[in-house]
Amino acid sequence: MTSIRELHKQLVRKERSAVELANEALDRIQRLEPKLHSFLHITADSALAQAKAVDAKIAAGEEIGMLAGIPIGIKDNMCTAGIPTTCASKILDKFVPPYESTVTQKLKDAGAVMVGKTNLDEFAMGSSTENSGYQVTANPWDLSRVPGGSSGGSAAAVAAAECVVALGSDTGGSIRQPAALCGVVGLKPTYGLVSRYGLVAYASSLDQIGPFGRSVEDAAVLLSAIAGYDPKDSTSLKVEIPNYAKLIRPNFRPRGRLRVGIIKETFGGGLDTVVEEKVKAAIETLQHLGAEIQIISCPTFSYGLPAYYIIAPSEASANLARYDAVKYGIRAEDADNLVEMYKETRAQGFGTEVKRRIMLGTYALSAGYYDAYYLKAQKVRALIKQDFDNAFEKVDVLVSPTSPTTAFKAGEKTADPLSMYLSDLMTIPVNLAGLPGINVPCGFDDKGLPVGMQLIGKPLGESLLLQVAHAYEQATDWHLKTPKLQ
Ligand code: GLN
Repeated sequence: MTSIRELHKQLVRKERSAVELANEALDRIQRLEPKLHSFLHITADSALAQAKAVDAKIAAGEEIGMLAGIPIGIKDNMCTAGIPTTCASKILDKFVPPYESTVTQKLKDAGAVMVGKTNLDEFAMGSSTENSGYQVTANPWDLSRVPGGSSGGSAAAVAAAECVVALGSDTGGSIRQPAALCGVVGLKPTYGLVSRYGLVAYASSLDQIGPFGRSVEDAAVLLSAIAGYDPKDSTSLKVEIPNYAKLIRPNFRPRGRLRVGIIKETFGGGLDTVVEEKVKAAIETLQHLGAEIQIISCPTFSYGLPAYYIIAPSEASANLARYDAVKYGIRAEDADNLVEMYKETRAQGFGTEVKRRIMLGTYALSAGYYDAYYLKAQKVRALIKQDFDNAFEKVDVLVSPTSPTTAFKAGEKTADPLSMYLSDLMTIPVNLAGLPGINVPCGFDDKGLPVGMQLIGKPLGESLLLQVAHAYEQATDWHLKTPKLQ
């Protein structure tokens, strides 16, 4: 599997051209999409134009950045000017944004070659990509199983080598959980590290964009390119962005004292035995690498899920009020007055899960229930943050499984939303506290499905997180295994 660093060298030495790389990715997409359905839109023309521009720069002897000429997939909830952005929702069918999100603009400027927009659960609400209004993405390791969600298209596309890296968004686990289920690296940055400008809002106090890669280093290269202060996002942090990829080279081993805390509460009931075994083995590997292991209790961890399912739907119910058939997307034609038009359009345009969340959120915010639900959930959120703060007084990095199970069968959980919600038990508290978290592949179950370990860092602790993840990755060879696809 060729890394970004290696591809960059080949481009600079003119051993391969950016157009060749783009064509290779587009051919593979053409071949695999009938099985995988990871992409909602394939942008072959603009990809080839961008690749040609990179080749022209190389021919002119100009310096190119690490991402120049690298094929990338973008989750279809990030606005791309002139290219459809649907959030996998029928309500945004044929919507073409008039402006570019900050992250995609940065990638364009860096010369990255966007090969397409990837599939997701409608408006990023889900854990299996089955809530897409258009298609169900398959897991490259077993086509009868889900890739996780909501960034399932990006995770599957990277795992299947339809592109080298991809962007996803993570509100409660939507980068880390699909990364775990597809056996790739996925990082949710600290809240505010990456601009949300042009990311279609789901739950604004939790949403964060982050990278997928087949190695920690590839994810680090992409993170450096997208992170940084943006005046267009009021929650964006004014901080220096290090060159994350440089920090983990060459073959970093943690020096000095590295204290790793196992979150006790994440090894309780409901966890697949094989996931428990593999993550515990990974923790032993960290110990061999020199980490001091402690068991840490975060007593409020398990309240993350109920708090999230009040806070996220509340924010979603407000954010999704904008789809009124006037400003964006489809419009019901058969209504005979304005109110009917709103109602009909929303009834036709939104899928079941989105409607469920709008109703949950509207209820939680309504006058008589605000204190009992929304306000209480915010208090729980503060307690969870406090638990993490306490834990980080004792350790530098926390560890847990990323997902309680490996990839489940398509259709297995669609009838029972609660069992689907449980997929994010381990990842949600990290969003509630605004912390960075990364999934690193740490083995396979007896069906050959990937298992993932989650490492959680202090606020803005991305550098250490990537270093530890990289050290673990280099000590193992899980990331070198690829799914058998024709
Ligand atoms: N699966 C969670 C949900 O359904 C998280 C989604 C996300 O992170 N976007 O809300």
